[in-house]
Amino acid sequence: MGMVDAPLTLAELLPNAAAITVLTGAGISTDSGIPDFRGPQGVWTKDPAAEAMSTIGAYLADPEVRRRAWRSRRDNPVWGAEPNAAHAALVELERAGRLRALITQNIDGLHQRAGSGAGTVLEIHGTLRDAVCLSCGLRTPMPEILRRIDAGEDDPPCAECGGIQKSATISFGQPLDRDVLDAAVTAARSCDLFLAVGTSLTVQPAAGLCLEAVEHGARLVIINAEETPYDGLADAVLRRPIGETLPRLAGIALGGGR
Ligand SMILES: [Zn+2]
Repeated sequence: MGMVDAPLTLAELLPNAAAITVLTGAGISTDSGIPDFRGPQGVWTKDPAAEAMSTIGAYLADPEVRRRAWRSRRDNPVWGAEPNAAHAALVELERAGRLRALITQNIDGLHQRAGSGAGTVLEIHGTLRDAVCLSCGLRTPMPEILRRIDAGEDDPPCAECGGIQKSATISFGQPLDRDVLDAAVTAARSCDLFLAVGTSLTVQPAAGLCLEAVEHGARLVIINAEETPYDGLADAVLRRPIGETLPRLAGIALGGGR
């Protein structure tokens, strides 16, 4: 275990990692122009009312919260964002057969847009790219709903049952998807290197996946701008820009030594 053995250098650790599980957070997408929720420039830091839109009770109870939420989805920077070099580096690792699973806390869909496999990406907080009916469960691509917003509807009901719709993201007060979470735990327990990228590791259960990995024998590498509660458990902690650091690490892992 990482806590017992002497720390390995990245040059020793990365080329030998055969089954890598990655956990990504908001920090991997800031280079794509998508702000972090809780950082200094974060959405919630600037606008506390935005947090109410992400709380299921307020969303169901208050039509004004829903109207505000739909406008916010329409104006979300996700729709104009492109994947960056860090997303691409993870695609490279996957295509080389080294990446086992890509667990993400992000709802922006940029991993799939970069080319990560649909079966590889585990979106534990859901996705903004679909809407879901809270009554019948019907899923609809978000752009279809946003076209209704642009056409004048301010809180478009489900086309099947008339129920309240929401983005297919996990709001505060909603349970995580059990199957997705189970797959994430399995991926954490069965990898030999767990790489946490751009996440403050303060939101559970995502953060606890680091501990699951280490307890099951994996090495832990953390790339994040700020300290995390798991830094002491890690074999390496890199507080460097993700858009440069992740491609470099992928290069080392794949033997290019970039
Ligand atoms: Zn419905």
